[in-house]
Amino acid sequence: MSDVYAQPTTGARRSDVSALASYTTLRMGGPAGRIVSATSADEIVRAVRDAGARGDAVLVLAGGSNVVIGDDGFPGTVVLVRSRGLRVVAEDADTVTVRVEAGEPWDDLVAATVANGWSGLECLSGIPGSTGATPIQNVGAYGQEVAETITGVEAYDRVEETTSRIAAADCGFAYRGSIFKYSDRWVVLSVDFRLSRSPLSGPVRYAELARALGVEVGNRVPLADARAAVRTLRAGKGMVLDPTDPDTRSVGSFFTNPVLDRAAYDLLRDRAADLGEPPSWPGAGDMVKVSAAWLIDKAGYGKGYAGPGGAAISRKHTLALTNRSGQASTADLVALAREIRDGVKTRFGVTLHPEPVLINTTI
Ligand SMILES: Cc1cc2nc3c(=O)[nH]c(=O)nc-3n(C[C@H](O)[C@H](O)[C@H](O)COP(=O)(O)OP(=O)(O)OC[C@H]3O[C@@H](n4cnc5c(N)ncnc54)[C@H](O)[C@@H]3O)c2cc1C
Repeated sequence: MSDVYAQPTTGARRSDVSALASYTTLRMGGPAGRIVSATSADEIVRAVRDAGARGDAVLVLAGGSNVVIGDDGFPGTVVLVRSRGLRVVAEDADTVTVRVEAGEPWDDLVAATVANGWSGLECLSGIPGSTGATPIQNVGAYGQEVAETITGVEAYDRVEETTSRIAAADCGFAYRGSIFKYSDRWVVLSVDFRLSRSPLSGPVRYAELARALGVEVGNRVPLADARAAVRTLRAGKGMVLDPTDPDTRSVGSFFTNPVLDRAAYDLLRDRAADLGEPPSWPGAGDMVKVSAAWLIDKAGYGKGYAGPGGAAISRKHTLALTNRSGQASTADLVALAREIRDGVKTRFGVTLHPEPVLINTTI
């Protein structure tokens, strides 16, 4: 299996080989105190424990595709998750449960499940990063999210200094969130997914994907067709990593879609009366989820909008903030994010929240 994670290169913007820019898809982030690469669950635990014992702060980093690291870097120990492997741990006539090591590249896993006729991850094709990071923000796209198939997460608890398996019901999965996000406590070592034995995808829930596949919403399609269509749609939006395409030098969506209560949603509709109905989806209870991309665009920050230092909105997707020039600093990116957040707030009264994890920086 190829090593898909970023590695330091001599051509990196910062000559310091410990610069974390080399390990992030944004190609941003200052130096690390120490970097340790761990290739098994045992090595990950040992590296985290040893660093803790030395009094070092610890940053667990895998694909670096959902982090914004400050220009001053991270002064403690960065543990790179590079464990590999997957195995079937349970099966019956209809399902198979696979246990996947945290460092396994996510899209390699999705490709393997599609090839094996295991249904449940196909719409999550093309998402960068590691398998162990998928529970962190309950990764989702095109109508699927990992919370639907994860049955348990094996994690090292840095407080209790024990390793245990946490049942999915206790992971606190929510829209782009879980108990693991913004928590230093847990280190994910492996993840169990229960998948259906089926040559067909789950019902296609996302209208754009259904259109691309030429089917009605709710229909099923061959797994390989779903995977190919998702990858094509994503590539058109710069949402599949491509070293030759600077619009993919991002963390994917920079802001989550705001989830509003009725009063906030009514205020938004008033303020947007001249623009038509804001695109939205029903949220839990009486809540409404609104398109962040629409808010950003209508507030005057369209595709390609350039901020300071070469930080810019992707030319392919309004929600992706990019290091298009390759020379932008984290301060430049954060300044652009603040400008957009404040502009949307002024125009629509809605506060946008960042989706990636911010490390030694803030917006
Ligand atoms: C082009 C592009 C498209 C994207 N599209 C999507 C999308 O469609 N949907 C979506 O949900 N996300 C998307 N993302 C975001 C990102 O790919 C996912 O969140 C991915 O799961 C992050 O994995 P990673 O290994 O790169 O995590 P990292 O960036 O290395 O880490 C992210 C966070 O998780 C923590 N972490 C990582 N591994 C572990 C572990 N083993 N134990 C404990 N903590 C850990 C880190 O400390 C950090 O806080 C996209 C990103 C890019 C660049």
